[in-house]
Amino acid sequence: MRGLQGARVVVTGGAGFVGSWLCERLLTEGAAVWCVDDFSTGSPEKVAHLADHPGFTLVEADVSAEIPVSERVDAVLHLACPASPVHYLRMPLETLRVASAGTVNALELAATSGARFVLASTSEVYGDPLEHPQRESYWGHVNPVGPRSVYDEGKRFAEATTMAYHRARGVDVGIARIFNSYGPRMSLDDGRVVPAFLHQALRGEPLTVAGDGTQTRSLCWVEDTVDGLVRLTRAGGVTGPVNIGNDDETTVLELASTVVELTGSRSRIEHIPLPEDDPRVRRPDLSLARDLLGWTPTMPVEEGLKRTAEWMEAVLAG
Ligand code: NAD
Ligand code: UDP
Repeated sequence: MRGLQGARVVVTGGAGFVGSWLCERLLTEGAAVWCVDDFSTGSPEKVAHLADHPGFTLVEADVSAEIPVSERVDAVLHLACPASPVHYLRMPLETLRVASAGTVNALELAATSGARFVLASTSEVYGDPLEHPQRESYWGHVNPVGPRSVYDEGKRFAEATTMAYHRARGVDVGIARIFNSYGPRMSLDDGRVVPAFLHQALRGEPLTVAGDGTQTRSLCWVEDTVDGLVRLTRAGGVTGPVNIGNDDETTVLELASTVVELTGSRSRIEHIPLPEDDPRVRRPDLSLARDLLGWTPTMPVEEGLKRTAEWMEAVLAG
């Protein structure tokens, strides 16, 4: 599928952080959207601004059980899954179920509809990487029995299932390996580093830097991430995994300083224990995304953080 005008699209996990931006973008492009979500880590409020749009349908369902959409659809974008370490460590079995049964259900829907399928996978499939930056050809370095494995191995299973449906059933699939994305509508308490630091800075509380803060992440503005997902959706026939992220790498300690500076906060930095198996480095190689999708992120991190801080200030002000 090349254009989205008039396309019928299912977005699982559409009431989450990334999903809410994706639903909005798809509606802007003229698609009709079925947002299927169980609100376990998302909420109807994240898509409340879309509720009156004639092309938008919100369906409450656990996609690990079923996806109750009976219409024939043109694309199934599978985002449903807890994504913050705090959430998936609290819901390990639900995470494994949605990555396995949920992915099978989403693929079955795509197979019966003849739809394009896009999996929201993750840079976590690279684990604590021994190759840097990470290219899609890298097989990863994941602890299969550590606490994070419910998410990492869940997504690796989801990728394997996606490729098996492509090979065995001819489903037109795409796999987006999304790197840390941030922006407005992240849950303030989901524990991910950007909302955690901004929330702490705006309240004048210490910023909780894990370990010595020398571990790195590469942060991508959510609308850039969504643009990559939309391009991958349109790019029928692009099958293998494609990294979607920003290659502007920063240490967690540098990020803490940037947040303190841009919020004008007087917060100090407090070191907390490094979580088990916390990846040391993470930065996408974006060559494939450029070549196959003509995609590259455009939002500078400081500007994106500033916008996210402004949004959070408004939320906190009520
Ligand atoms: P999120 O937690 O905000 O959104 C996930 C959504 O899925 C929520 O609305 C949740 O209620 C829903 N969900 C979870 N289990 C479900 C189930 N069984 N049935 C129906 N709905 C269910 O997280 P997010 O950051 O928006 O992430 C969205 C997707 O992108 C996830 O698949 C995640 O793994 C992937 N991803 C995100 C990032 C990131 O930095 N945000 C990075 C890599 C991958
Ligand atoms: N982190 C931190 N303080 C926090 C939350 C996270 O130092 O309050 C660190 C975390 O240990 C990791 C990085 O920030 O090294 C990114 O964590 P996040 O949970 O956002 O995502 P991850 O990339 O680990 O999935």
